[in-house]
Amino acid sequence: MDAKILNDFENIVGPQNIRRGPAQRVAYSFDGTFQQRMPEAVLLPKTTEEVSRILALANKTETTITTRGAGTSLSGGAIPTIEGLVLDLAQMNAIHEIDKRNSVAVAQPGVITSDLHHAVEEQGLFYPPDPASLQQCTIGGNVACNSGGPRCLKYGVTKDFVLGMTVVLANGSILKLGGKLVKNVTGYQLMQLFVGSEGTLGVITEVTLRLIPYPSMRKTAIAMFKSLDHASEAVTEIIGAGILPVALELLDRATLDIVTQYRDLTFPQETNAILIIEQDGNDENAIQNDIKSMTAICREIGAIECNEAANEQERQAIWETRRVASGALGRAAPNKLGEDIAVPRSQIPEMIRRIHEIGEKHQFKIAVFGHAGDGNLHPNFLFDKKIPGELKRLEVAASEVFQVALEMGGTLSGEHGIGTLKKEFLVNDLGEQTVNIMQDIKNVFDPKEILNPDKIFPENSTEGFLTRLPLLGKNASI
Ligand SMILES: Cc1cc2nc3c(=O)[nH]c(=O)nc-3n(C[C@H](O)[C@H](O)[C@H](O)COP(=O)(O)OP(=O)(O)OC[C@H]3O[C@@H](n4cnc5c(N)ncnc54)[C@H](O)[C@@H]3O)c2cc1C
Repeated sequence: MDAKILNDFENIVGPQNIRRGPAQRVAYSFDGTFQQRMPEAVLLPKTTEEVSRILALANKTETTITTRGAGTSLSGGAIPTIEGLVLDLAQMNAIHEIDKRNSVAVAQPGVITSDLHHAVEEQGLFYPPDPASLQQCTIGGNVACNSGGPRCLKYGVTKDFVLGMTVVLANGSILKLGGKLVKNVTGYQLMQLFVGSEGTLGVITEVTLRLIPYPSMRKTAIAMFKSLDHASEAVTEIIGAGILPVALELLDRATLDIVTQYRDLTFPQETNAILIIEQDGNDENAIQNDIKSMTAICREIGAIECNEAANEQERQAIWETRRVASGALGRAAPNKLGEDIAVPRSQIPEMIRRIHEIGEKHQFKIAVFGHAGDGNLHPNFLFDKKIPGELKRLEVAASEVFQVALEMGGTLSGEHGIGTLKKEFLVNDLGEQTVNIMQDIKNVFDPKEILNPDKIFPENSTEGFLTRLPLLGKNASI
C-alpha cells in the first residue's frame, strides 16, 4: 500500500492505534482455522466516527478492510484474503447501558461475550447465546456470524436477541437500525441482513440486545452410551416426546478420547458417546421432571449410565468436557477442519452414521460433537496439511459430508458461517438464483468490494476449494 495512504489511515486512529510491524501483524494473520495471511497493517479504532472515517478513506482509495473481533472464526472470516487492512475492534469494548426497565443491553462490538453475560446476570437478567468460545469471542463477532451455542436449543440464536444496531457502511456512512423496541415491522427488516453477514456488508459498531429474566435454577445430567447410534436416537426421542431442554449436546468417542487427555474426566470404558442434558427455569419440580423424563428415555434406548450433577462444581465439570472439545481436538493433530453442517433433527442418527462411513472410506479420523438438539453437528477432520496430497484427500471427504447433509435437507453451516471455507458449495446449498440475489445485495452495500472481499461468494468450481485457500498465498509463513 502507498505509504501516504497508510499515513492517512494512521492519522485517523493515532500512532498508538496502528500496528505496522511484522511481529505485530502476524497475530492477525490467523483465525480458528488452519489458514493464514498477513494484513498490511492493523487499525484499532475507538469510536463509530473513527470507523466511519476509516471506511470513507478505504472506499476512496479502494483499500480492502477485514473486520476482526477476537479472531475465533471457524470459517476464515477474520483473516484477509488479499492485501489490505484489518480493523480490530477490541478497544470498542464498553457496555454502554443495561436498561432493566426495557430489558436490553447496549454494547460496543468488542465486548467479550462472557463479560456481557456476567454484567447482565448481576442485574438478574439473562443473555442466552453462549458459543463455546464465549470467554474469547466478541458480541460484534457473534452478531456478524449469527452465532449459536448449547443454550440456543431452547432460547434461539444471536439473531433472536438483536433489537438494534449502529453499522458503518463501506462508504463510511453511519446507519442506525432498530432500537430498544421489542416489536418493529416498519419497512424491510434491514437490520437482520447484517446479522450473519460475516463482515461483508458493514462494520457493526454498537448493538442493542434483548435480555430475558435470569432463570433461577438449572439441572444438568450426563448420559453415557455404548453406541453412538443410541445417543443420537435419544436426541430425536427426547425432542419427539415434547420436551424442550436448554441443551442437548453430543460428543462421540473420538472426541472423548482426546478431551480426557486434557481434563481429569473418566467414563466407563465401553462409552462410545455421551449426551449432556440441561434444563432450567424457576420451578424446581418441573425441571426435575424434565431431567427424569430425559434420562428415562436415554436408559430405555440403552444408556449405560446417567448421572445428574449434584452441585455447581459437578455441573461445571460436565460443561468443561464440552467447552474444551474444539480446543483439545485442535491440539490432537497438526491441523483440524471443524465443519458445521446442520440437518433436520430426525436425520441426526443417519447423518452421524454417514460421517463415520466417509471417515472410514477416506481413512480420516473424524471426531464428531455438536449441538445435536438443533441438528447442528461438528465433524472435525484431523489431518496434517504438510503431508503431500492430504488436502486433496480432505477435499473429497469434506465434499461428501456436505453432499450428504444437503441430500438430507440440511445446510452447510449451522453457526460458523461460510467465510472462505465453504463458499464453493454455496450454490449447491442455496441455488443459483438465491446466490445471485445475495450478490446483488452485496453490490448495493459495497459495490467496490472493500469489506471482506472473496468471502461467502463462490469461486467457479468446487475443485481445489481447500488447496487454494490463503495458506498457500504468497504471504503465508507456515
Ligand atoms: C474453541 C471454539 C469454539 C467455538 N464455539 C462456537 C459455538 O459454540 N457456536 C458458534 O456459533 N461459534 C463457535 N465458534 C466460532 C466463533 O467463536 C464464532 O463465530 C464467534 O462469533 C466469532 O467471534 P469473534 O469475535 O472471534 O469474531 P472474529 O472471528 O474476529 O470474526 C468473525 C467474522 O465476523 C466479522 N466481524 C467481527 N466483528 C464484526 C463487526 N463488529 N462488524 C462486522 N463484522 C464483524 C469478521 O470479519 C469475520 O468475518 C467457536 C470457535 C472456537 C475457536
